Amino acid sequence: MATMKFFQCDRPSCLKLRKGRFYSEQPICPQCKTEGKDPKYGHTIRRLTIIHYDPPSEYPGIGMTHRACSRKEPIQASDGVNGQPNPWHAGTGSIAAVTCHECMKTPEFKKAAAALDDNDGLPPNYSAVIERLAMSTTPLR
Ligand SMILES: [Zn+2]
Ligand SMILES: [Zn+2]
Repeated sequence: MATMKFFQCDRPSCLKLRKGRFYSEQPICPQCKTEGKDPKYGHTIRRLTIIHYDPPSEYPGIGMTHRACSRKEPIQASDGVNGQPNPWHAGTGSIAAVTCHECMKTPEFKKAAAALDDNDGLPPNYSAVIERLAMSTTPLR
């Protein structure tokens, strides 16, 4: 199975929907259909690093260093060129910075989102947080 990559189309009209971001195997914008190999506009299709949620360990401030969406995979799997860490995958313990759509569906992520304190005295509502975060990405399927 080919790997889904994460892209952003910088065409101004495309930026209005989901910040121009999309998951795809190929660098082809689903909105304007511009391809990455297009000689004139191809450079506007940029590949972005997928930021996974790195669940916390029991030590404060130290993450597990695996992807919440795939526990067996370290944040940077060694599947880059010549077995180097893959530069297109990163991790964070800050849920607001997560861009991986699969990580957002995990119990670890939802638990962290629920723990966010909005300081308004209302019960935490993680579904609203997830909805807001999910706006920046396109569903994987
Ligand atoms: Zn576009
Ligand atoms: Zn992930």
